Amino acid sequence: MTATVPGVASPTDSVTARSTASAGANSAAALLTDLQRLGPLARKQLCRTTGLSFTTVTRMCASLIEIGVLAELEPRPSERTGPGRAGRPEIPLDFAAGGRLLVGVHIRPWSTTCTVFDLTAAELSHAEYVHPAGASPGELLAAGVAMTADVLSTVDISRTLGIGVSIGGLVDHDRRVSVESPMLGWREVDLGAAFDPLGLAVHVDSSVRCLALDQLWRRGSQVGDTSLTLFVSEIVGAAIIVDRRLRRGPGASAGNILHFPVHDGPGTVCSCGRRNCLSAVVSNPALYDQALAVGAAPPDTQWHTPVYKYQDNPVMAALRRRRAGWLGEAAGTLIELLNPDTTVIAGHLGTQDDIDHMFAVARSRCSTTLGARPTSVLHREAGADVWDRASVSLVLDDYLRHPARYEPALA
Ligand SMILES: [Zn+2]
Repeated sequence: MTATVPGVASPTDSVTARSTASAGANSAAALLTDLQRLGPLARKQLCRTTGLSFTTVTRMCASLIEIGVLAELEPRPSERTGPGRAGRPEIPLDFAAGGRLLVGVHIRPWSTTCTVFDLTAAELSHAEYVHPAGASPGELLAAGVAMTADVLSTVDISRTLGIGVSIGGLVDHDRRVSVESPMLGWREVDLGAAFDPLGLAVHVDSSVRCLALDQLWRRGSQVGDTSLTLFVSEIVGAAIIVDRRLRRGPGASAGNILHFPVHDGPGTVCSCGRRNCLSAVVSNPALYDQALAVGAAPPDTQWHTPVYKYQDNPVMAALRRRRAGWLGEAAGTLIELLNPDTTVIAGHLGTQDDIDHMFAVARSRCSTTLGARPTSVLHREAGADVWDRASVSLVLDDYLRHPARYEPALA
């Protein structure tokens, strides 16, 4: 990156200019990150949270207001200086409504959805494409891209930072490829290339990683800087964030727990050929198969029915409780390994009793690691409405780390 260019006699000036620009970009990143996590904040508060000087904060805020990223809010009367002193009210700053836009696309087995948000997390436009039966990956993808183009035609694209695309299964973020999405039956589908013609930056990752980033960046989030997210639905997946950085590892593999062994599983054969792999035992389709095998569910129900219905059926309750125990064992093992600040186990997992049982098993597995922090393990339902917002966090994560790549005025 810093190699000398032959023929350039004195690179010192350009190096100095570059490092000044880099310092400015880092300051902008720190300021925008703290606003996202803690905002709205006044300039003096930003000095405290970022450690930047008042001069730098003031200058940076002026630039960000001028280019439409930030806006000044109404002064807070409570922010006036101490009693008996007629100080100036502090003016909180926040992201400007509609100032910058982000597009989230989520591809699930039965539909593709697209939502545009601004940096205040307000939803500006939304559409859903229901997948017709028998369509090929290429047809589904082309229709999803066309729908996204329609949604983009309703907003100001010059203010749009990029598109985040999420899909279940294994995803290679760097290649922007869905490596394997078992429920869609997709393998090596190039999502990045499909969305590139829309003319925006395209980021692609797995649903669970997007969920983890959403939890990291959501304002007021209870999730710490180092977190483990487990998601259980059609398949199972995990996402690891260390010191506010998503751990992806080489290729698509970090967080791939599909084939973790379940030591007391029912002997189910996995697609990999082995028995008792985690996904083959605890996913919702696996639970449905277990219900079918003992006649606890009629054969024409969908795979998720045993989770949503039959709450009072004792056979189903026993199956769900057994599944909760397996999940708790897997979660406890991962918590023991990573010792995260927060663990989120997400998905429709059954009744509160099932969830409590899962927590109890997880905590007993890693009681030394958790110690006095048993409440650092949380459950999140993660219903259908979270996924476009989760997809957008891919763009937000990149924007907050590298704002100058998106805002030429900051470079
Ligand atoms: Zn397997």
